[in-house]
Amino acid sequence: MVKKAVESIKGLVFDIQRYSIHDGPGIRTVVFLKGCPLRCKWCSNPESQDIRPQIFYIKSRCMGCGLCEKNCPDKEVKLEHDGLKIDWKAANRGDLAWTSVCPTGALGIKGIYMSVEEVLNIVMKDEIFYRQSGGGMTLSGGEPLMQPKFALGLLKMAREADISTAVETTGYVDRKVLLDAMHYTDVFLYDFKHWDDEAHIKYTGVSNKKIKDNLKILAEAGANIMVRTPLIPDVNDSEESIRKIMEIIKEYGIKKFTLLPFHQYGSGKYASCGMQYDMKDVKPHSEKQVAKLFRIIEDSGFSSEF
Ligand code: SF4
Repeated sequence: MVKKAVESIKGLVFDIQRYSIHDGPGIRTVVFLKGCPLRCKWCSNPESQDIRPQIFYIKSRCMGCGLCEKNCPDKEVKLEHDGLKIDWKAANRGDLAWTSVCPTGALGIKGIYMSVEEVLNIVMKDEIFYRQSGGGMTLSGGEPLMQPKFALGLLKMAREADISTAVETTGYVDRKVLLDAMHYTDVFLYDFKHWDDEAHIKYTGVSNKKIKDNLKILAEAGANIMVRTPLIPDVNDSEESIRKIMEIIKEYGIKKFTLLPFHQYGSGKYASCGMQYDMKDVKPHSEKQVAKLFRIIEDSGFSSEF
């Protein structure tokens, strides 16, 4: 009865990626949940931020048939010579079902409601790979713990099926939810983006205080934690900055730390969501620069292995 109740909990999912090898140990299925309390300027999943379903427009797929303009309920979409002009705010406010008229998939929705059971059925398809590689299911986002009932339901049911679990978190979450999740999570991939609070607020929109406090408490509670810092040019990529982060997490007793080098893979998605991207001119670090920082991490006694 309880199992059935958990299986029927619904949550908002914007992607499920199978065969991932970067989001925890082994081969994994990553379930991306919508909603995030942070607004990092370098976010590679801008479609994750809003906790409601939203329109996603891929201009290169648009053949200019005008069906969307004819079918949108309140004229939020207008076909012009160089593609659609979308009133994003108005368009995302209502029911988005009309977008299904698009014959090419240029216009679609990011975020669909799925039950725990539906997600688990997809996750279980690759059970054999998890067993062979030490992989499993990773919850990501956005911030997956912003949908606590759904996230906890997924973690519980995966545990019940003996599937290893990982949670990628911003740490900017309700502490009780985080500690509840700990009971069903094999490894937390915990982002710590900047040691300096002022800089943290400037680049992510929120203070790092809650993130640090939660990290400390999670570590003291005995959780298995890999701290990850997205390495952003001219934001937190100095040797001093990395050393400051290591100082803090060492104090919490954390032994696993890694960097996520900056990339531009998500940049095209901003336009597809009607959002502005401020980092298009930022160049990723060279391999040599990244390797130097990884050496410092290793020399400081941290492991980058899950
Ligand atoms: S329905 Fe699709 S293909 Fe046709 S104009 Fe609209 S977005 Fe483009």
